Amino acid sequence: MSKLTHLTLTEARDGLSKGDFSARELTQAHVEAVEACRSLNAFITETPDKALDGADASDKRRSKGEAGVLEGIPLAIKDLFCTQDVLTTAGSHILDGFQPQYESTVSANLWAAGAVMLGKTNLDEFAMGSSNMTSYYGGVENPWRREGSNAPLVPGGSSGGSAAAVAARCAMGATGTDTGGSIRQPAAFCGVVGMKPTYGRCSRWGIVAFASSLDQAGPMTRGVRDAAIMLRGMAGHDPKDSTSVDTPVPDYEAAMNGDVRGLKVGIPKEYRIDGTPAEIDTVWQQGIEWLKAAGAEMVDISLPHTKYALPTYYIVAPAEASSNLARYDGVRYGLRVQGDTLDEMYEATRGEGFGAEVKRRILIGAYVLSAGYYDAYYNKARRIRTLIANDFKAAYEKVDVVLTPTAPSAAFGMGDKMDDPVAMYLNDVFTVPASLAGLPGISLPAGLSADGLPLGLQLLGQPFEEGTLLKVAEVLETAAEFDALPQIIS
Ligand code: GLN
Repeated sequence: MSKLTHLTLTEARDGLSKGDFSARELTQAHVEAVEACRSLNAFITETPDKALDGADASDKRRSKGEAGVLEGIPLAIKDLFCTQDVLTTAGSHILDGFQPQYESTVSANLWAAGAVMLGKTNLDEFAMGSSNMTSYYGGVENPWRREGSNAPLVPGGSSGGSAAAVAARCAMGATGTDTGGSIRQPAAFCGVVGMKPTYGRCSRWGIVAFASSLDQAGPMTRGVRDAAIMLRGMAGHDPKDSTSVDTPVPDYEAAMNGDVRGLKVGIPKEYRIDGTPAEIDTVWQQGIEWLKAAGAEMVDISLPHTKYALPTYYIVAPAEASSNLARYDGVRYGLRVQGDTLDEMYEATRGEGFGAEVKRRILIGAYVLSAGYYDAYYNKARRIRTLIANDFKAAYEKVDVVLTPTAPSAAFGMGDKMDDPVAMYLNDVFTVPASLAGLPGISLPAGLSADGLPLGLQLLGQPFEEGTLLKVAEVLETAAEFDALPQIIS
């Protein structure tokens, strides 16, 4: 495999601007890497011709002195983002053959910044899941293996294809979306960096909706600086999304000065959960030591409503999903299964088009929103959501950022937990609270488990303080010196 695919996005940007190689050469190397990694099933659709045409156009722009912030960088796009004239599936049978006539704002922003599209990555169906096993297009394999074992592992989910593609050096970066952890948890499982920005930082327009009050797009990359560069290319106000916030996008790299002296880091006691493997605590403790050594101050904090976060999320998210997914009816686009009457056509289309996990969410969502149960479930969940957000507000009066593990385990086997939805939902225990509060979070690889799998640390921040998070994450990244490679490419 060509060395060009082993560069970080930052190194590639600098190499392109010095003229060490062209966007065409860089893209060609990645197109070949995508082909070489097909066994992972990380891509639903590969777009090599689009990639190479895009690279040529990029080289032309550069020769005219018109380079954008992601000029010539080959990226993969989670198949939840609508891409004009390119199959967009959301990992679901129900969107069979759907080729949007429009481009999502985030992907349009990336192309306007000069990036090049390699293809669309696999995901849990409608982004519902933590393993990438619920995709109609099949599970994705994590490029990592346990030491001494060849058993395939999940990449996490729902942005599992994006995480696997970045870890396997098929793409310099990829978009993800995070509703309750779908950027951060797969990033942790695959040993890459994943950032969920503040709710409203990136436009949701043209992203297939799961739970609209939680969904947020973000970058998945191999380095923290890479994430800063990519986020700058994705973010921004969009009048087409009324929840997108009209605040300027800073140059995140400018905030990354390596200086965390005096910064206050909250350590929430509720994130020490019985039954979490010791190595998760060890990596957390290691993160604490690294930040202390860099001059930051650790502060014990309490986020008392943490234990209600998962049940709250698994009411709010399905409620919104049941409403959002009502639009898939076999009439306007995607799959249609004929029936004798209109109602039968709806039933047959939705019955065949949705997988088991999506149906479970629609049923839960319809139940918690039903007339007799609305107050008992949905309204109560909304009130608890406010309490969870208030916990964070109170904590941020005392601290600048919060440090926690990203997930309660390393990657697990393909097929594990599939018969136990609650065990699957527990994957999100550390990521869901910040999602409910709309706060930014980043996961970065911090070490390896005893059997050689990546473990992630999570930093949570205050609204629109992505720059602070990136700065602290870079300090952790430097201390962690994480340079292990997944078996598939080492
Ligand atoms: N794993 C969580 C779920 O299944 C989160 C998914 C996501 O963030 N899209 O809902």
